Amino acid sequence: MWELELVNKLTSYVNGYNLSQFMEDSWLWRGETNGCFSVKSAYCGMFEQHKDSFECEILAVTWKLKVQSKIRFLPGMVFRNKIPAGDNLIHRNIDIGIANYNCKFCLNALETMEHLLFRCPIITIVWNSCYG
Ligand SMILES: [Zn+2]
Repeated sequence: MWELELVNKLTSYVNGYNLSQFMEDSWLWRGETNGCFSVKSAYCGMFEQHKDSFECEILAVTWKLKVQSKIRFLPGMVFRNKIPAGDNLIHRNIDIGIANYNCKFCLNALETMEHLLFRCPIITIVWNSCYG
């Protein structure tokens, strides 16, 4: 019974397209008009839903920076809370030992994005030396 539902879904999906028995099937990336995958189009697609947001403005600026890709991707990972900080490791059941979930700088608090960027007293010293 569930297979019939899947067939109906598939049929309704492909009804909007012109299918030809004379052409080979192929993969096309919808993010580009030429159908070829690009990292830039994938990145834009990920943030399309937030295109007028502060987050997207920041990401648009950082995308154009001439820096290593790991630096370019960092803001996106921060906005999505994808940094492997202690709280995320706990959330994903990644066991690194209970003492290792704490902040590596001050050792006094659970390592979270908020702590690493704004609350850690050691990082605060670094921020103040840069912008103070
Ligand atoms: Zn800390």
